[in-house]
Amino acid sequence: MDATENTSAVPRPTAPRAARTVPVLIVGGGPVGLALAAELGWRGVGCELVEQSDGAITTPKMNEVNTRTMEFCRRWGIADAVRQCPFPDDHPLDVVFVTSLAGYELARMRRPPRGQQHAGGDSPERMQICSQIWFDPILRNFAQGQPGVTLRHRTRLQSFAAAADGVTAELHDLDSGRCETINADYLVGCDGATSAIRDAIGVALTGQGTLGHPLHLFFRAPDLLERCGREPGVFFLAIDRHGLWANIRVVDPANGLWRLMALETDGKQTPESVDRAALLQRAIGRPIDVQWQGVSIWTRRSVVAERYGQGRVFLAGDAVHQLSPTGALGMNTGIGDAVDLGWKLAAVLQGWGGARLLASYDAERRPIGLRNVAMATEFHFAHGEFRGGTAAIEDDSDAGRALRARLGASLARDVGRMFRTAGLQLGYRYEASPICVADGTPPTPDDPEAFVPSARPGSRAPHAWLADGRSTLDLFSRGFVLLRFAAPDTAALEQAARTRGVQLGVVDVDDPAAAALYERRLVLVRPDGHVAWRGDTIPVDAAALIDRVRGAA
Ligand SMILES: Cc1cc2nc3c(=O)[nH]c(=O)nc-3n(C[C@H](O)[C@H](O)[C@H](O)COP(=O)(O)OP(=O)(O)OC[C@H]3O[C@@H](n4cnc5c(N)ncnc54)[C@H](O)[C@@H]3O)c2cc1C
Repeated sequence: MDATENTSAVPRPTAPRAARTVPVLIVGGGPVGLALAAELGWRGVGCELVEQSDGAITTPKMNEVNTRTMEFCRRWGIADAVRQCPFPDDHPLDVVFVTSLAGYELARMRRPPRGQQHAGGDSPERMQICSQIWFDPILRNFAQGQPGVTLRHRTRLQSFAAAADGVTAELHDLDSGRCETINADYLVGCDGATSAIRDAIGVALTGQGTLGHPLHLFFRAPDLLERCGREPGVFFLAIDRHGLWANIRVVDPANGLWRLMALETDGKQTPESVDRAALLQRAIGRPIDVQWQGVSIWTRRSVVAERYGQGRVFLAGDAVHQLSPTGALGMNTGIGDAVDLGWKLAAVLQGWGGARLLASYDAERRPIGLRNVAMATEFHFAHGEFRGGTAAIEDDSDAGRALRARLGASLARDVGRMFRTAGLQLGYRYEASPICVADGTPPTPDDPEAFVPSARPGSRAPHAWLADGRSTLDLFSRGFVLLRFAAPDTAALEQAARTRGVQLGVVDVDDPAAAALYERRLVLVRPDGHVAWRGDTIPVDAAALIDRVRGAA
């Protein structure tokens, strides 16, 4: 990252203007930077986000907004907007294993259309299919509607200097060529996989590294499924006589936008050298006319940063974890980072966060990065078991049918795991967090597939429907919330919170099912919806408890 790193189309930077100060400077307007701006703005904390592109999404990556991210959207008040995105309500979300789109079907994992889904027992929300082409603008509109949030496109962070009391950054307006120096209390790099901020603070990535070089072909083909005689679905995995080699996803059914992903290239191809017609014919199983929209070759990685920041500089999203899209965890993990970091930055800037609060960001989120990267990598390697091919898979014979049935069952069991991730989405917990008070109970199993709700400190406070139709999650807001399942005297804790400027709401819950789920008469829930402490009575030293959970102990 330096002042000479411009493309020739970009005007040369001019001399810096006088500095102004913002509380938080966010670099990168991908979904994670936007989520952080949203979280900060929602908490009343000013921030400026700079994004070097114009914000247009030319090659959308993510499609699945998982259940936990939907819960965050619910808190922000934008869950309905995500649900109402243009993905049709009646389009089945089935995952289907095929020899080709027009070929044989080996197995089908049925997932009902959005319009027929009901919230499950574990969450008031469900995973939503909402391509980045719609999701990023929803986040962007919400973020820029918050007072104190400024989003600036075509603006690049050119360089920065971090000191003990703040960060000075040089920004380059790519349209005018003007440079500006800006002071920030904190800098957050949401600048993606090639994060220059990460490099500048000397943070290395560790892990298995590069796993491959998949290829994306985007095309428009209205009525493709009808033309192939295929029952609708959303994600088709192609396994032919040469093995499992591709997936085909409908991104925008109403407009016939599709993405074909060839799982592997030789690493030497370029978008220009790719024989896209041959790949398409192999995936569809017959010649078909399409309108080409774009080609990209990207790198599949399995890495996590050794640190999530340094001093007043923090990193979030792909800047600190890069994982295979198998399991749809990339952005969703990054949004978890943004929410965790967001409330902590707000607490410190608003004066009630303790000196150790920000350090807990790394302690809490890095283990989740490691967990999710490991799981996504495992899902990716499950594909490898089916790379070897056999010609009989395409035989119109009893033997061919038997082989397809056998393979289909194995594929749905092994590769299909990446679509059964309730535990991964909701079951992450902040073990050994310095700002949660362990209660000595053993951890529930961290099973990727099966979610086991728990109110054990560090866990996401579990969901239960209340008599008035709200979820317990709707009781949580910007501050801490003390859930009272009986009415012990909590005045000492309330007083301790007040004297430290910590916002603490007290909510009486008269609901036996919720009481059984939470297991204690008192449960203290953090501003991000995780349990900080639970017990049956207020501890003798209530002030020490408040200091612990606000990072001042
Ligand atoms: C095929 C595929 C499918 C996927 N599907 C899913 C899915 O279903 N669900 C899911 O959760 N995840 C999915 N992911 C992963 C997800 O897309 C990424 O994890 C996510 O986009 C990362 O967001 P980010 O904001 O951290 O980074 P990015 O989206 O990479 O954004 C970083 C931004 O920073 C900007 N920037 C960089 N440097 C500077 C600078 N110096 N100044 C200003 N701006 C700068 C860049 O222009 C860029 O816009 C998928 C990924 C792939 C490849």
